[in-house]
Amino acid sequence: MRISQCTCRDHAIGGQRNLFTDITEMTVTSTPHKTSTSCVVPPKTPLGGYDALSTPVYRASTIVFPDAAAYRNRFSRAPDGYTYGLSGTPTARTLEMQLSEIQGAERTILTPSGQSAISTVMLTLLRSGDHLLVTDNTYPPVKQFAEEVLVPFGVSVDYFDPCTPEDLRAKVIKGKTRLVWLESPGSTTMEVADIDLLSTIAHEAGALVGCDNTWSTGLLFRPLDHGVDFSMEALTKYVGGHSDILMGAVSVRDMEHYTALRRTLSSFGVGVSPDECSLALRGMQTMALRLEHSGQVAMILARELAERPEIGAVLHPGLPGAVGHEIWKRDFAGSSGVFTLRLDGISNDRVDAALDSLRTFAIGASWGGTRSLMAPQSLKGGRQIMPVQEETTYMRLSIGLESIDDLRTDIENMLAAMTS
Ligand SMILES: *Cc1c(COP(=O)(O)O)cnc(C)c1O
Repeated sequence: MRISQCTCRDHAIGGQRNLFTDITEMTVTSTPHKTSTSCVVPPKTPLGGYDALSTPVYRASTIVFPDAAAYRNRFSRAPDGYTYGLSGTPTARTLEMQLSEIQGAERTILTPSGQSAISTVMLTLLRSGDHLLVTDNTYPPVKQFAEEVLVPFGVSVDYFDPCTPEDLRAKVIKGKTRLVWLESPGSTTMEVADIDLLSTIAHEAGALVGCDNTWSTGLLFRPLDHGVDFSMEALTKYVGGHSDILMGAVSVRDMEHYTALRRTLSSFGVGVSPDECSLALRGMQTMALRLEHSGQVAMILARELAERPEIGAVLHPGLPGAVGHEIWKRDFAGSSGVFTLRLDGISNDRVDAALDSLRTFAIGASWGGTRSLMAPQSLKGGRQIMPVQEETTYMRLSIGLESIDDLRTDIENMLAAMTS
């Protein structure tokens, strides 16, 4: 039995032996020599005294139990304990707990993207016959999910104007509306809504409330303090912070909601990788500083751009006269780095010329990273209730960490190319 005598080192050196031939020569009754066992069973390394300042990456599918009874009773460890890698390792739990602290939550679940955080909330709560109300200025894929997945499953969907609370009051159906989905500031058009008031209206009708809080992170606004039941965030943006991971989170105070969300994730077989959690944990270390810097530069540039005749409108909740500016001042701790320019009357050719003149800003979707981005958006057909300029380009800016002088130069060149 040649293979039983080969040591790990033989394989590591390689070349001399044909492993496949050796395996076919093996008989089923052969017992591997204990050196093979040594290859797969690492010695127990003592962890005492190893108190790393950073969070280690714990990878695992299998979790080992100390005895038969512990394995038999493993589901009593749910929803927080470790039973199988899919439901999380200590790396994921650390990220969840850190997010809970920032959001003022009891628990947080992680999902593979921001969009899947939204779909996880909706699939947990909504059943055939239920009614869903979605803010008209939501992140657009929410409408796609509602219409292409939820409606065929028998859920009815309506949109409402979050800036007119009476619109929600008129559309919410007592005993039928199960969830009201909010986002503030609104995607692209940046309206700030009165989350306390909208949550109260929803709760009075027996509906639960979810809010996409990606723009603010928990640092600028905490939806759970304002009546929201499910605070959702795309960690892809400011928490990840470096344009290299995709992840989402949902934070809750109610343990029953938490257990229900965890059961949805396990039913769907959805989990997140500890390596990505580690990158999110690293991003979190500098998030407050990055957000403060980007927010301040965004506010300065928004004020400067508001003076420019080439721009139709600057949509930033921190500008006086912006929709919901007074609510923003009341509820938010500051600005993040994302706002929008409405380029009224500019042809697509001129918009493209403007984008092609950029040297510091990159052209691309997503946001919240170290690099400043511009992304042209069209709202044609994208809004069902709130009026928008369908023929106008909405240019979304995400301010990163470059020097403000370089960003200003880029914007000057862009405006020149746009109007030449
Ligand atoms: C990016 C984004 C999402 C989706 O996040 P992904 O991780 O890209 O799926 C959801 N909501 C808002 C407001 C976002 O900006």
